[in-house]
Formats: sequence, structure tokens, C-alpha cells
Amino acid sequence: MEDLYKILGVGRGTSQAEIKKAYRKLARKFHPDANPDDKGAEAKFKEISSAYDILSDPGKRKQYDAGPAHFGGGGAQGFDPAMFRDIFGGGGGPGAAGPGGFSNIFDMFGGGGRTAPPRGSDLTYILNLSFDDALKGVTTKIAVDKNVQCSVCHGSGAEPGTSPISCPDCGGRGVIAQNQGFFALSQPCPRCSGSGTIIEKPCHRCGGAGAVRATKKYTVKIPAGMNSGNKIRLKGKGQSSSQGGAPGDLYVKVEVAPSPMFHRRGDDLILTVPVTFPEAALGAKIEVPTTNGNISLKIPKGTQNGRMLRVKGKGAPHMKSGGNGDLLVKVKVVVPANLNKAQKEALTKYSELHSEDPREELKK
Ligand SMILES: [Zn+2]
Ligand SMILES: [Zn+2]
Repeated sequence: MEDLYKILGVGRGTSQAEIKKAYRKLARKFHPDANPDDKGAEAKFKEISSAYDILSDPGKRKQYDAGPAHFGGGGAQGFDPAMFRDIFGGGGGPGAAGPGGFSNIFDMFGGGGRTAPPRGSDLTYILNLSFDDALKGVTTKIAVDKNVQCSVCHGSGAEPGTSPISCPDCGGRGVIAQNQGFFALSQPCPRCSGSGTIIEKPCHRCGGAGAVRATKKYTVKIPAGMNSGNKIRLKGKGQSSSQGGAPGDLYVKVEVAPSPMFHRRGDDLILTVPVTFPEAALGAKIEVPTTNGNISLKIPKGTQNGRMLRVKGKGAPHMKSGGNGDLLVKVKVVVPANLNKAQKEALTKYSELHSEDPREELKK
């Protein structure tokens, strides 16, 4: 049997914490998920896992240190994926680790600090924008209440001058094994919550949390054309990790106030424009507002109520292409409610001349 210490690349007198650290490093390097199709890596991974299985257990390690004569042959048995899942996957039964096995092992290792502690959570900030600001784009300052890394302990939670120590209950493994008949069930260590380390002297500023509450100000550049629900991401500006990991991200989600005039549909803007009956019937050139000044619009003769006229490129800016959507002018023919005598006479005369029956198709 090969020297288990050599396999993990550590010396005989190495502490449990150092052994764990060495194993983490190697396990990450040789994990089958990180080396698909590499049989050599897989074999190496089994080897280091077996070595760690023995050296991480103080009892087994003692036996091993006493010499091969004292050590039953059962130690370096083959690598059993089910057992691996059982140890690292939280005991959720076969398949619990599933395709995510690789990330699970780091989640499991997470608490310890250096290797891959969990990152802080993402934050969402709701930014209310006026309709015009959303169209034109705006640079604004936001203030965000969040957890930031404690500046006294730099996130470790331990009082400066001290450091988290290996958990004595689980020997730094983060899990406690319980033999139940044929199976060895592993549970997260209750003392260290599975992190493998505990803080003896908590930081005086953050009380051991590694983070404090603070208000942070950021300048945010909102590109032209954002619509309600659109988000921009400020990488690394989310919550700090409570365990020394990378911070999460901050998402700024915009809520755009409605406009009294324009209705937005994607990058198009819809504008309802009232026209008179003569304008609709005879055709006309009218002024219509856009988000960028007035334009002249031709109403074709014989325009029916509800017709949509498209004005290219006068809609909302498209965030990615740099182009613009269209302005859709919805024609609303208004019927005069109050007519003076002369108008009445003119309309009566018109109706006498009007020979077409609009209800022709309803007749049978
Ligand atoms: Zn602190
Ligand atoms: Zn523990």
C-alpha cells in the first residue's frame, strides 16, 4: 500500500486542518467532473479520496500511523460513488448529488474559508424612472442598504490576531458519521454547521458574522430605452459573503412611470391622435408630438377611425442595436357634438348628396 501521506502530499505530523486543505486542493484538481474522459484523473481521485478517508479520521489515522500490521486491509478499498454522495451530498439517497455533484462537493467544503466558500447573495434594487428618463437614458445615484464585509476582521468573523479553529467535534470535516447498521450516515456537524471551523473569539465589531450593515452609494448609468422590468447588473455589489466568499451581484431593476400620451409596446410607441371628419375624409397634414419634438404627418384621404399610421424610427431606442422602434399613430375620428346653424345646414346638404349606404352589407 502506498504511503497515504505521500498521496496527499503532506508530512506525517501534519495537522487535521492541513490534511483537509491538501485533500480539498487535490480533490478539486482530480474530480471526475472536472476531468471527463480522463481515466488517470479518476484513478488519482479515488486514490486521494481513499487516503483522505483514513487520514481524516483520527482513529483510523492512529491505526495507520502504528504501521501496516495494525491496519486492517479494509482501508484502501475501491472508491464507492454512493458512499461519496452519502458523505458529501447530505444523505439524500441515490442520485441526490446528481449531475451537480461537482458543485455539491464545493458547497460542502464551502464553510471552511479558503477553497470555495459560498458567495454572497444577489440583491435587487428597484429604480423608478420617469417615462422620459427611461427613453433618454440617465445617470443616477442609488443608495443600497446591505451587508458589507467587516473591515475589522475582513470577513472571517474572528477577532484580529485570532483565526477560526478547526471544529473539535468533527475534527474539521464538517460532517459527523453515524454508523447505522450497514450504512455510515453522515450529517452536518451541529457545532460548526458543516463548515469545519469554529470561531473562538468573535470579532468585536461584527460579533462573528463577518459582515456589518451599511448603506452604500453607487452611480448607475441607465442606457436609453430601458423598459419596466429590465435590469442591469452591477457585478460584485450584492451582499458580502458571510463566510469570506465573493460578494453577490446587485441588480438594478427599472420601473418606468406611464406617459399620459404614449403607450409603449416593446420598442414601439403608440399615440392616439384625434382628427376631424373632414381631415379623415379629405386627407390632411397635421402636427403630431413625438418624444423628440413635433413632426408633420400626412393623413391620407378616406382614413377610417382606428387606422394605425406608422412613423419609422420615432419609437423608443433599442437598447442593443442603437436603432429605434416606430411611432404608431392611431387615428381617432371625432364626431362634433355641438353644431351651430350654418354647420348643421352644411352637413344636411352633405347628407343629401351622400348617395352611398354604409349599411348595404347588413341588408339581405
Ligand atoms: Zn468582524
Ligand atoms: Zn464541526
